[in-house]
Amino acid sequence: MPTVWVLGAGQLGAMLKQAAYPLALRVEPVEPDSEQLPNIKDDDIVTVEREQWPDTPVTRYMSQQASFMNADIFGKIADRFHQKTMLDSLEINTAPWCSVEVDTKAAALHAELGCDVLLKRREGGYDGKGQHWLYQDQGGDVPADWRGTGIAEKKIPFDEELSLIGARDQDGKKVFYPLTLNLHRNGILMASIAPLSRVAHLQDTAEAMLGKIMDSANYVGVMAMECFRVGEQLIVNELAPRVHNSGHWTQAGACVSQFEMHLRAVSRLPIKAPEVRGYSVMINIIGVERELDWMKIPSTQCYWYGKDVRPGRKLGHINLNHPEKSALQTALHELRELLPEHYQDVFNWVETELA
Ligand code: ATP
Ligand code: MG
Ligand code: MG
Repeated sequence: MPTVWVLGAGQLGAMLKQAAYPLALRVEPVEPDSEQLPNIKDDDIVTVEREQWPDTPVTRYMSQQASFMNADIFGKIADRFHQKTMLDSLEINTAPWCSVEVDTKAAALHAELGCDVLLKRREGGYDGKGQHWLYQDQGGDVPADWRGTGIAEKKIPFDEELSLIGARDQDGKKVFYPLTLNLHRNGILMASIAPLSRVAHLQDTAEAMLGKIMDSANYVGVMAMECFRVGEQLIVNELAPRVHNSGHWTQAGACVSQFEMHLRAVSRLPIKAPEVRGYSVMINIIGVERELDWMKIPSTQCYWYGKDVRPGRKLGHINLNHPEKSALQTALHELRELLPEHYQDVFNWVETELA
């Protein structure tokens, strides 16, 4: 049985491992700073569950393997400068941007990108960490520690955020899940809904965009494309060359989850267009202690990652799925009662969408 070695051992690696059993694959997530090098055999596969990794003996060893999938894409996507350059060269719509050099002045950024400008670290940002807003009416300059380390983006007055999860196999076959509607608070994903008939007319456009990106990189596996919807236009926010939080609903809502799809693609097993079941909602558990009563609610799948509880930290997620909207609404109502006050607007958002 070949082993799929996963660079990174967080919750995404754990969920890849969970998905491996029906495929008779062994999946071994590896911590970048573990002491021992993995024993990678010739017919094994190396994949990743994170966008970036520190340079350690283990990561150097894993990323130098001939079987390291998509080796040349990670550098291009993990650095926003290269990712945005790639999107521009493919003529894929993305937020207007420019590089923040050591001598870039706020005035020049405002002149090019407007009064509200979002600085983003070139590397390492996640969950909205690694962002800094520059507001012209507040007159701030580019902070010293941002010089030469970031890009600047125009503020997109988006109607909402959508993401597309797709997969591509070694023969270039591509499959996609339906567009997912996402709610972020302070840069962190709080909830996702899929499928949603009112955005179905954007599916083909989104697939063409992500398909072009995956083809151009000869990418194999699951990739996520985060988008802003502005009217009928899709603008790519960022790409993730891996399984993605906004695809967690597929564990409950699709015949093949994004985790199984990724494993199938990288290990040369057939991929297929995922059949989607009923309506799905995913609620992220951020900075909240586990409540065992969540587990009693019908139509839920509860994932608790076993991490220390800290404010703002992703600790788990709950998938809710049902063929009937009304049953889903009942389950959401029960869950709402068990989550703290600051979740109320998340549930209001979900319930409005499902009404
Ligand atoms: P992730 O955890 O998804 O990797 P991240 O830290 O890499 O997050 P982004 O996805 O770039 O950051 O941004 C986080 C959120 O900030 C977006 O989902 C969106 O809500 C908001 N945002 C990002 N870029 C812009 C923009 N140009 N205009 C307006 N809002 C934005
Ligand atoms: Mg990101
Ligand atoms: Mg993002």
